[in-house]
Amino acid sequence: MAGLIVVLLAAMAGVAYADAKPEFRAGVSRLDITPEKPIWMSGYAARTKPSDGALHPLWAKGLAIEDRKGYRLVIVTTDLIGLPRVITDEVAARLEKRHNLRRAQIVFNASHTHTGPVVRPNLMTMYFLSPDEKQVVEEYARKLTGDLFQVASAALGDLKPAELRFGQGTAGFGNNRRNAKGPTDHSVPVIEVVADGKPKAILFGYSCHNTTHVAEDTKLSGDYTGFAQIELEAKYPGATALFITLCGADQNPNPRGKTEYAQDHGKELAESVGKVLSGQMVTLHAPLKSTYSNVDLAFALHTRDQFEEEAKSADKFKASRAREMLAKYDEGRPVRSTPYPVQAIRFGKDLTLVALGGEVVVDYALRIKRHYDKERVVVAGYSNDVMCYIPSLRILKEGGYEGLTSMIYYGQPGPFAADVEDRIWLAVAKAMKRVGAKQ
Ligand SMILES: [Zn+2]
Repeated sequence: MAGLIVVLLAAMAGVAYADAKPEFRAGVSRLDITPEKPIWMSGYAARTKPSDGALHPLWAKGLAIEDRKGYRLVIVTTDLIGLPRVITDEVAARLEKRHNLRRAQIVFNASHTHTGPVVRPNLMTMYFLSPDEKQVVEEYARKLTGDLFQVASAALGDLKPAELRFGQGTAGFGNNRRNAKGPTDHSVPVIEVVADGKPKAILFGYSCHNTTHVAEDTKLSGDYTGFAQIELEAKYPGATALFITLCGADQNPNPRGKTEYAQDHGKELAESVGKVLSGQMVTLHAPLKSTYSNVDLAFALHTRDQFEEEAKSADKFKASRAREMLAKYDEGRPVRSTPYPVQAIRFGKDLTLVALGGEVVVDYALRIKRHYDKERVVVAGYSNDVMCYIPSLRILKEGGYEGLTSMIYYGQPGPFAADVEDRIWLAVAKAMKRVGAKQ
């Protein structure tokens, strides 16, 4: 009798399970985006020659998620320095046309590897390319645009019933590079997508520059985040590991300078993710909500005279930036501000992912997480556009590379105006409200 009841209960549970629509469907995809020929590599002004082969492939990977009402989200991660707006806008427009996705439903993120190709026009003041080298870079950007569209489309084409879980670990190799005692964020957030009882996708993040390799390294690679993805995909066969860069603009890995260190950091990160996956994770629920907007960030006032002076500089980077700025003055449109993308995605009441553009310093993530302390929040940087560093007011006042001099290499006119953090903070607060995140 007891046996019969068990069988009946099991049958009823089976019926109920088959009738209920799964809470989510998820799809994954990947595309090898390793440049086929030697190409100028990005991230270090001190480089003297183009790439010479690869340690492992560079990937664009897609994760598509759909809730039971049909609301979809696509996250595209890349082993690249940073995706400029001209590329992400073009890909988003094509995705909107083909798949009826709004801009808010698409997230692009770059791992910020410094052993990847130059992605035009990101950081263009950093390079002085010959016409042939320039053509290789332009061809790569053109091909990349098609590749990113393809990888997002393929993930959307792979949607199958799935469960989503979230957990968080830590890894300690990221150091504040401005001040050894400065703030850090060692958390390793993980979203696991489970299908048929096995991990189908592992999306994980960390707040640290992807700069274990240095200017002298000429082999293309994803640096430590590339190695971490390789480790995870070996450990969880069939799973796609996707890395999302958080607010690590003022953080460097320690130690640096050797491929074996990049492997070690990758292992440490993968082990942290593995611990999260084998531990207690929180189930994420529908509905999915997302919002995306651009806020204008103003630069400190500048004048034409200032750039006429700077154009005479013996520093070729400064002189080049000055020429670009003078050209804008000539056109009657001096660069006074830059549009800044702010995005938020909420999974039920369980997790909010904030995706910010640019090289965001750790202060932003710490402030957002502190303020929304009743929420689970992950704050990504390097998302949707990387137009320059995004200093907090503290770092803007301190100056240095992240607050001031990096603007030269990004071809921006100078430091941000003093209200940069306020403007971003207001945009984040609006986005959080729109997706229903609680303070
Ligand atoms: Zn950087």
